[in-house]
Amino acid sequence: MPAALMNAWLADMILINPFDPANSRLLIEDIVLSNVGAFRQVDPNAAEAGGILLGFRRASHLHVTIATPPGPRDLRTKFSFSRDDESHQRIALSEWLRSEETMDYIGEWHTHPESHPQPSSLDVREWQQICRRRAEPMIFMIQGILGSWIGFGVGRAIKAATRAPATQRTVAHSNLIRPKPDTSSVAE
Ligand SMILES: [Zn+2]
Repeated sequence: MPAALMNAWLADMILINPFDPANSRLLIEDIVLSNVGAFRQVDPNAAEAGGILLGFRRASHLHVTIATPPGPRDLRTKFSFSRDDESHQRIALSEWLRSEETMDYIGEWHTHPESHPQPSSLDVREWQQICRRRAEPMIFMIQGILGSWIGFGVGRAIKAATRAPATQRTVAHSNLIRPKPDTSSVAE
């Protein structure tokens, strides 16, 4: 395996679903982490950024493959982000069609101008609104200047996810398979 590819593989993040720690993992691909990381508010004048997370649900697992970037009509200040641009929905629709209708809306991401971010009360209220109408867990990610906060939402409950131990990474990775035409629907 070429070194660059090896590094990319190693950079993927695997987390434990706090609502189902025995059975459910979240895989966030390295491209998502680097695309979101590019909007870290390192510059003190930088505005918050955000978008939606797209990917796949496979049995109890979640797999995030795309983070949409902020668009021109999103409302962005140093301490707030409101996702108003139509580009997020447009990307979601085109990726859904391109994936033969298997790609799903998995969650939301935005940045905070703090080193190690924590959700604000407004964040939690907005996430609860999103989860209220859905049966499946949703993923919420806040990218800080140094670290990130990643959590799951189910109904009104929002819980932080923890990183899977290194020993579980290989197993989880092999279970979180990439999209293939013949496994487009998981009926479990
Ligand atoms: Zn926030």
